[in-house]
Amino acid sequence: MASAPHIEGIHHISAISGSPKVNYDFYTQIMGLRFVKKTVNFDDPFTYHLYYGNHQGAPGSTITFFPWAHVVQGSPQTGETTATAYAIPFDGLEEWVSHFAEHNIRIDGPFEQFGQKTLIVQDPDGLQIQLIEDAGVTGVPDPHLDIHHEASAIRGFFGATLDVADIGPTAELLQTFGWSFDAEENGIHRYRAPGEHGIGKVVDVVQQKHGEGRFGKGTIHHIAFRVPDKDAQEAWAEELVHMGFSPTPIQERFYFKAIYFREKNGILFELATDEPGFTADESIEELGTSLKLPAWYEPHRARIEEALPILEPSANQPSVVSTGSRKP
Ligand code: ZN
Repeated sequence: MASAPHIEGIHHISAISGSPKVNYDFYTQIMGLRFVKKTVNFDDPFTYHLYYGNHQGAPGSTITFFPWAHVVQGSPQTGETTATAYAIPFDGLEEWVSHFAEHNIRIDGPFEQFGQKTLIVQDPDGLQIQLIEDAGVTGVPDPHLDIHHEASAIRGFFGATLDVADIGPTAELLQTFGWSFDAEENGIHRYRAPGEHGIGKVVDVVQQKHGEGRFGKGTIHHIAFRVPDKDAQEAWAEELVHMGFSPTPIQERFYFKAIYFREKNGILFELATDEPGFTADESIEELGTSLKLPAWYEPHRARIEEALPILEPSANQPSVVSTGSRKP
């Protein structure tokens, strides 16, 4: 058996939202992320699956949403990924503070955590988002976005928070991934991926912070970690079985291949390949500009397009940030 290589970081995070239009406006126009891919829920083609990331939609930058306008309000709970964190360059937070103030978005912070300036905000469905100043951050923001100075724009994920009943088994699994314990502060146990500094390299594990919640909009469905390719994924599938987990067979997701398993605290983990990535069917310049359907839904494209709400602002309709937006 090929030995399973270290897991280099987070690949993507997938969450549930309410209205797709509200979700689109917030992540593109308030958070300044790039709309990387517009596709549908493969099990329910009349609802979207929306992807937002950095300029290239690089692994470690992308959050995806399954929006259901009428889904119940969720609340985070123990046994789930409960927050996302984005990395911004050093000294970038001040601009975010005034940006959120302009849009009447309530913030918590900035405060120091692990020696890094951190700000907490919630998306329109209540999903917790942290913005963290990270001096050595890499990753390319979208040069076409004009709502932020490039100097403060999101580069990709800093990391994510896992809320668990018992830190031990989750910590042990992360260590098997090749991650190491970094530090503990206020009950947050921070683990770091191996290798060079980059995006999506941190997982914070907390114990019983939320207790019982409810799955619904504003909650995270799963967190995906990176494997380079199918060989590495197969090696990990074998390793996971050996460790007593029950990974799914490999699922074809077009932009990556995926296996899923529940870690011992019940959090849904995915291992996703870097190959082929979001440029499999669109160039970097074109990312997110057209509705992508799997082949079996193509015959129904007209009906599907008709049923899906329009997300992009039309040319003569002002976007949510066009009034009083701060252009550089
Ligand atoms: Zn996924």
